Amino acid sequence: MSNEKKEQELIVSRQTLSIPQRFSTGPVMGRFLQELRDNKRIMANKCPKCGRHQLPPREVCALCNVEVTEWDELPPVGTVRDYDIIFYASPDPLSGETREVPYVECWVDLDGTQGDAPFWHLLNVDDISKVKRGLRVRVKFAEERHGTTEDIEGFEIIEGAES
Ligand SMILES: [Zn+2]
Repeated sequence: MSNEKKEQELIVSRQTLSIPQRFSTGPVMGRFLQELRDNKRIMANKCPKCGRHQLPPREVCALCNVEVTEWDELPPVGTVRDYDIIFYASPDPLSGETREVPYVECWVDLDGTQGDAPFWHLLNVDDISKVKRGLRVRVKFAEERHGTTEDIEGFEIIEGAES
């Protein structure tokens, strides 16, 4: 008997599944996406009990468990609360594509936001050494918008306007 172990062959099945589907956004997320697409407006909804904004909006306040029907337009400017710099990207689960690294994701408190409702998106910067908490940023809308969160390309730094 030999003690040599035969190297196990790794068998890989490479397949791309295509499952054409359509999902309803529902009335709340639908309004949010429609305002982005048609009017370049960022709409948050506001809880009638605690007054907290939800962004993206949801039908029910996650803290108070009450229906949320009041809407506020928020300005497309705010302050970076936190961020991540990504050096090792995973493929996007929707597109299968991998973003070029490094890239930056950030959570921004839009001006006028009430409560704890940071808005997540990409932060478009050429120099990642500029990235820090407290940066003043503005939303950059896509030229062509289709009613998705990609109607926002990301945030860009407002030069010389730190908070
Ligand atoms: Zn609430």
